[in-house]
Amino acid sequence: MSQAMSAPQVMDDKSQPGPSPQPKEKPPLPMPGPSPEQVLVMEQNEKERAAPSPYCDFCLGDAVSNKKSGQPEELVSCSDCGRSGHPSCLLFTDNMIVSVRKYRWQCIECKCCSLCGTSDNDDQLLFCDDCDRGYHMYCLIPPLDTPPEGSWSCRTCIRDFHGGVVPNK
Ligand SMILES: [Zn+2]
Ligand SMILES: [Zn+2]
Ligand SMILES: [Zn+2]
Ligand SMILES: [Zn+2]
Repeated sequence: MSQAMSAPQVMDDKSQPGPSPQPKEKPPLPMPGPSPEQVLVMEQNEKERAAPSPYCDFCLGDAVSNKKSGQPEELVSCSDCGRSGHPSCLLFTDNMIVSVRKYRWQCIECKCCSLCGTSDNDDQLLFCDDCDRGYHMYCLIPPLDTPPEGSWSCRTCIRDFHGGVVPNK
């Protein structure tokens, strides 16, 4: 009738000298499906740029003199064919002038979709009014069925120029 109470000493488990924290190395998970953030293809393949023309394709002036305004104006050159133009001759907006210095701008002849990198179906290409990049309506997320009325800004520019808010036309 006299049984020694020998309860298992569970409580002591926690007071054992703990092992040093082990670094957990998880293999990076493969991205499931297309990521919601659109990737601009043009930024990824840095191809060689064409030698820029020193003359504006429109007024035939150069960086020292825009023939229309008589004022010096820096030229913007197509990365693919090298054709150049004054931003004012290209009817650029102020935001475009800032934007085209930051990426491989393409002239209207060479324009590709920034998302799929092709110039197929150019009747489906939209041009951003802030950066002049091209986008297929069907490459956009969500895709557009009809061209937007008035001005249109791409997702990158809505973020960079409009604080993430779709601008009013
Ligand atoms: Zn010009
Ligand atoms: Zn070009
Ligand atoms: Zn596309
Ligand atoms: Zn844009």
